[in-house]
Amino acid sequence: MAPRFRRPAPASLYGAGVSTFGTPSGPGDPDALFGLEEIRPGPPVPRPPGPSFRTSAEARRMLEVREIHAEPAAAASPRGREILARFPDAEVIPVGSHWRIPGLHGNPGNAGNWVRTKKTVLVLGERKSLTVRPNGRSADWIAPGAANGCAMACAYCYVPRRKGYANPVTVFTNIEQIIGRLGRHVAASGPKREPNQCDPRAWVYDIGENGDCSVDALISENTADLVHAFTRWPTAKASFATKFVNPDLLLLDPRGRTRVRFSVMPPEDARLLDIRTSPVEDRIAAAGDFVEAGYEVHFNFSPVVIRPGWEEAWSGLLRRMDDVLPRTVKEQAAAEVIMLTHNRELHEVNLAWHPRAEAALWRPEIQQPKRSENGSWNVRYATGVKAGAVEAVRRLVERHTPWLPIRYAF
Ligand code: SF4
Repeated sequence: MAPRFRRPAPASLYGAGVSTFGTPSGPGDPDALFGLEEIRPGPPVPRPPGPSFRTSAEARRMLEVREIHAEPAAAASPRGREILARFPDAEVIPVGSHWRIPGLHGNPGNAGNWVRTKKTVLVLGERKSLTVRPNGRSADWIAPGAANGCAMACAYCYVPRRKGYANPVTVFTNIEQIIGRLGRHVAASGPKREPNQCDPRAWVYDIGENGDCSVDALISENTADLVHAFTRWPTAKASFATKFVNPDLLLLDPRGRTRVRFSVMPPEDARLLDIRTSPVEDRIAAAGDFVEAGYEVHFNFSPVVIRPGWEEAWSGLLRRMDDVLPRTVKEQAAAEVIMLTHNRELHEVNLAWHPRAEAALWRPEIQQPKRSENGSWNVRYATGVKAGAVEAVRRLVERHTPWLPIRYAF
C-alpha cells in the first residue's frame, strides 16, 4: 500500500479562498518590467464572505475528492496547502511525479472507472515546463496551463490522450512561477501592432488548453489569479473555453481582460457526448451575466459532429441563441468552428465506458487519418466532407445569427 502523507499545517499566509496574487512588487515582478504601476489595480478583493458556488451541492456533484495524489513539494506549497485544507477528508498519497502515478495512469483497468476517477481523484504537482507556445487559432499564444485534466468527461475530449485510461484534474501549485513567466512574455511581446482574427488589439493567451478553468476554479484560486493577472497587462488578454457554468467566476472583476469561450453544440448531441458538463441551455443563459461581470464572451462551436440531421440540429441551436441572447452579448461575440477530430486510443477507451457515443464519433466511412502537431495519428473528417460541412456551418450562421462573426473554422 502506498505511504500516506501527514497533512501539512494549513497555510497561514494565504487564507483559503484568498488569492495569492497581489503580492508586493519587487525584482522579477512582471509589472516592474512593463512599467505599469500607474494602472495597477491593487490586490484583488477576497471573495465576499458567505457561501460560494464551490461549496454547493451542485459543485459537489461535479467534484467529490476522496483521493489526492501529491508531489511532496506541491503539497507543502501555499497553494497546495489551501487545496488540501479544502478537501480535509481526502486521503493524501505521495507521488514522485504527477505524470507517472502507478495504478492511475496507463492502467487499462481504469477505463471502466472513467467518470468516478474524474469525480473523486485529484493530483497536485509542480509545473516544470513554462513554455509559451505560438498558436494563431483560438489564441495567439498557448500559456503554460495552471492545471490539466478535467472532471468532466466529453467523449471526444483530446485531453486524456497523453495520460491514457484516467484523466482526473492535476493542479499545478507553482502558480506564481506560471504568472511570472506570462508577465515576462507579455512584456517582451510589447503592443500588438497588427490586428488578427484572435483579437484586433490584444495578444490573446489561452490559459486553459488542457482542461476547463471553470471547473479548476472549484478546486483552487489558480483561475482567479490568472484572471487578476491579466487585468494588469493592457496589451494582453486571457482566454479559455468552457462547458461549465461556475457562478463564482462572476465575482472576479476581470475588467475586460479575460475572454470566456462557451462551447456549445446542439443539446441532443451534448446529452450524448458532453458528459458531466452544464447543459447547453445553461451555458447560453450564462453569457449575459458574464458580459455584465466584465468578461468578453465568445462561443466555440466545437466539435461539430456530422450525423444524420446535424444541419437541422445546428439550425435549431443558432435560432435559439438568436432568440435568447441579449444585445450586450451579440455586440461583442465571435465564434470559432471546430470539426470533430478523434483518435484510435481514445476510441478504445470510450468503448469501455460509453460505446453509444462512439457510434456518433467513430465513422471510418467519412474519416481519414491526420498527423497531429505532436506527431500522433488522429482521425478527422475526409477532406471533401469536412470542407462541405464547414461551408454549411458558415451558411447557417449567416442565416440565423448574422451578428456572429466566425473568427476561424477548420
Ligand atoms: S470540458 Fe473540455 S477538457 Fe473537459 S472533458 Fe470536456 S472537452 Fe475535455
